[in-house]
Amino acid sequence: MRGGAFTARLGANESVFGPSPKVIEAVGRAAADGWMYGDPEQFELREALAEHLGLAVGNILCGTGIDGLLRDLVAACCEPGDSVLASLGSYPTFTYFAGAAGVRVETVPYQSDFRQDLQALAESAERIRPRILYLTNPDNPTGSYWQASDIETLIERVPEETLIALDEAYCEFAPASAMLEAGFIRPNLLRFRTFSKAYGMAGFRLGYVFGDPGDIRQFNKIRDHFSLSRLAQVAGIAALADQDHLRTVLDLVADGRERLTRAAERHGLTPLPSAANFVAMAVAGDAQYTGELAERIEASGVFIRRPRAKGLDNLLRISVGTASDAQVFEDALERALHHRE
Ligand code: PMP
Repeated sequence: MRGGAFTARLGANESVFGPSPKVIEAVGRAAADGWMYGDPEQFELREALAEHLGLAVGNILCGTGIDGLLRDLVAACCEPGDSVLASLGSYPTFTYFAGAAGVRVETVPYQSDFRQDLQALAESAERIRPRILYLTNPDNPTGSYWQASDIETLIERVPEETLIALDEAYCEFAPASAMLEAGFIRPNLLRFRTFSKAYGMAGFRLGYVFGDPGDIRQFNKIRDHFSLSRLAQVAGIAALADQDHLRTVLDLVADGRERLTRAAERHGLTPLPSAANFVAMAVAGDAQYTGELAERIEASGVFIRRPRAKGLDNLLRISVGTASDAQVFEDALERALHHRE
């Protein structure tokens, strides 16, 4: 099963380094209790997160990954005919849920340096007065980031009635200066994080949202109380207790990012500076050529991602894997660039 049909699985920004061994032990011990539902109040897990973040239990709610929480967010806050705002081509799940709910999705293009255009987002928010502004920091698929102070300036400018959904899926990989303090809490700001990336637990489906207790209570009204499994809750608690594992993973990811960056440069691609566990590389060529290159790489058994949105469609996005995954990618890239089978 590992890696599916691909030789190297570098297209979903998972962590090949896996969860902490303590998570595996804890889940093994808890499996016999799998006949019981998980705690609908997720109390112990929320308590562990509260301790980790220096917040109160009432600031936090867990769900089935950020994706599950974003679906709940749309259900809790949006009516058909509302509008929401996001960057064109940024992580799309939120806009999919919004579109499916009959909500109008307004978008703003990226800057020419592949960073999200905070100025244009603020101006659009002032004009459109959307129900929700969705923003990723660090961003997927570019890996780019803004400093916390820039995010704070945007938050100040957004109209009061707009709720800001700040997706921090990659926060653990980012420089401290890019992340708002965990204690930066205010009404109409919800911050989303996940165990899928740095904690290596994408298959557990566990994420959390934190913010003002009033906003968190809104979530509680509509969420499915039993969707978060007992095993995911146990796993989350064990993962938080092993910060050494997290630090080891972060070092490995920093090395892997560096290696991908150098490989891109060697092959004439332009790697974008990344604060996440992947590197986006700009191909010198149009969208069609980039697509062909991506197909040739995938035909060599390497799963990667190619963003399709206008403005980002000459990028290839490669997740950090093991050293041998990186070698497999480099060989596949070399063959793809020179049209060799
Ligand atoms: N947000 C962003 C920005 C992501 O890149 C991803 C995963 N690719 C997610 C959310 C999904 O996270 P989860 O696995 O917690 O649903």
